[in-house]
Order: sequence, then structure tokens, then C-alpha cells
Amino acid sequence: MIPMVDLKQQYLDLKEEIDNGLLAGLEETKFILGPNVRAFEEECAEYLGVDHTVGVASGTDALHLALIAAGVEKGDAVITTPFTFIATAEAIRYVGATPVFVDIDPQSYNMDLNQVEDAITERTRAILPVHIFGQPVDMVTILSLAERHDLRVIEDCAQSFGAYIDGRQTGNFGLAGCFSFFPSKNLGGYGDGGLVSTNSAELAEHLRVLRNHGSWKQYHHSEIGFNSRLDELQAIILRAKLKRIDNYNENRRRVAHRYSAALAEIPGIKPPYEDGIGHHVYHQYTLLVEYRDTIQQALRDNGIACAIYYPIPLHQQEVFVDDCQGLSLPVSERISQQCLSLPVFPELKDAQIDRILDVISKAANG
Ligand SMILES: *Cc1c(COP(=O)(O)O)cnc(C)c1O
Repeated sequence: MIPMVDLKQQYLDLKEEIDNGLLAGLEETKFILGPNVRAFEEECAEYLGVDHTVGVASGTDALHLALIAAGVEKGDAVITTPFTFIATAEAIRYVGATPVFVDIDPQSYNMDLNQVEDAITERTRAILPVHIFGQPVDMVTILSLAERHDLRVIEDCAQSFGAYIDGRQTGNFGLAGCFSFFPSKNLGGYGDGGLVSTNSAELAEHLRVLRNHGSWKQYHHSEIGFNSRLDELQAIILRAKLKRIDNYNENRRRVAHRYSAALAEIPGIKPPYEDGIGHHVYHQYTLLVEYRDTIQQALRDNGIACAIYYPIPLHQQEVFVDDCQGLSLPVSERISQQCLSLPVFPELKDAQIDRILDVISKAANG
């Protein structure tokens, strides 16, 4: 059996460090906003090259609180991509704003930046790009669009921890970068977790208040906030993994490049495209194939996991049909029919990759 991601193997490689860290954390008993959360926030700020980071309870909360802190509110419109996980658009709805979906680029699967300007109206308050599957969106273009139209930029970096453009990390371009530490993400904890990065001291201060019941000082509440703090025990695990994130991401790239070299030779299969704008960290390895069912079945028959990210673009999701009546976004619709994600994780061995490739190649030729 080859899974989509092997969290057990990664744990065994780090077992001593994580076990000892967790035991020390249990003895310490500073479970809420303790020393490891503070240390992790500092280490992340240093790694990302940003002035501030604020640990929160999940990637979804990172987006939600960042949108509040950015002043996005009821009646506003936020431009985003339909080819993402639901949380991106959910967070926009949490603040009472409307997601406005623009189609994606067929090569990178990222938001098509040529279509953003036409989607801007006087209600538009922000742009929310997603670095989908770990490939950075062209942030330089987004920032210039945003500046021209006086819009906020919130980056969804849930899939892009460690990805960068010209040495500048994702999450260091917009007003805020929103990260998820869901276990299967490039930097994953052993439960839920998230983080917002920003270069604005004011925004960071507001986020610290928002994540902690609107409290700026114990039992002093300036606004309605949330219970959304990064957990201390998760921070212990994340600190151990943060030290190794570049190595993890390089190994994801090793897997991806081995797949792509072989799959490029198979008729009807389009390996994922690196557009060269940034450094792709392959949260997912997602190819396009017209005879998807055949490949999926062959992989399953051979005990190899695969997944479809994403089978339904958000503008066609039941929850958004009322918002998106008659909206046609043909590229996302086609890609949703053809995309197939293969196992990609740092510990995946060359022999396993070769087996996966062999199964695909036989299914394609059979
Ligand atoms: C995982 C993910 C999120 C949400 O993160 P959680 O930590 O699961 O709440 C948001 N956006 C994208 C693109 C994601 O992949």
C-alpha cells in the first residue's frame, strides 16, 4: 500500500525529539500561549522573513481573522479562485463578504491574473490569491493590481509553506499570509493549527487580540473576538519540523521531478507545469489526464492511493450556486474533470515512485 502521505514514517524519523519535547511540555503545563508558541512564532517570522507572525487554531481561522483585521466586512467583495479548498471562500463568507471567482490559468492552476481587473467593482475590497498545490502566484503582478485599485491582499499560503519568489517567501507579499498546519500540509502538526504572517505591527496586534477573546489585557475586552490560539503541544511538534522544512520540500520536488520526467512521455498525460515565477514546493503533485477513471482504477487495483483535488470548482458547489448563477469558468471546470493527484511526500522512495509510474504507464498503454 502506498498512501497519499506517510505521517507515520515522518514521526518515526523524529520520534525522539518529538516525544521528549512533548513530555517536557506536559511537565511544564503552560498549555495556552506558552513558551513554545512564542518561540515558534519567532522562528516562523525569521524563516518567512516577516516582522510578525500570530499562531491561531487553524488555517481557516488564519484566513477568517486576517480578513477581519484587514477590515473586510459585510457587503464587500473579495476576488479569489474557484480551484481551491472550500475554506478559502468560507472565510470570505464568515465576514459577510462575497467571494468573486475568476477562472484559473490552465498550466499553473493558479488564478488567471489577466481576468482579475475585469472582476473589480466598487465593492471590491480585497484579492485573496491561493498558492495552489505549493506553486506561488505571481505576487508582483497582484501587488501592482492591488495598488492601482486600492485593494488589500491576503495570501492563502495553506499549501505553500517554504515556497518563494526570488528568495522572498509566500506570505511576505500581501498585507497578511495565512498558513495551515493541518497534518498533511507541507509543515503539518498532529492536529489543527494555523498562523498569520504580516509586516504590519498594527495588524499583528489586532490579530493577537482577535485570537484571544478580543482581549488586549487579561479580562479587558475591546471587541468580540474568538478562541483561536495555536496549541502549545502543536507548537512543540511544529518547531521540530520547521527545522527540516527545506529538506522536506526539496524531497517533494525530487519526487515531483521524477514523476514528471517519466509522465511527459505518456500520451494523454500532462504533468504539472512549473511556470518559473516561484519555487514550487509540491504540496500536491497534480497531473491532467483525459482517461482519468482508467488510471485511478489501475492505481487502486495496485494498492496505490490517489485523489482528486478538486472535483468541483467552488462556483459550482451547492453552497455557492445562488451567488454564482450562470457563472461559467471553463478552465476550472475542465481541470476539475481531468486532474489527478499522486502520492507526494518527502519519505516516498524512488522504488515506490517507479512502481507508481509503472502502473500508470501500463494502464495508459493497455
Ligand atoms: C488546508 C487549507 C485551508 C484550511 O486550513 P485548515 O488548517 O484545515 O483550516 C485553507 N486553504 C487552503 C488552500 C487549504 O489547502
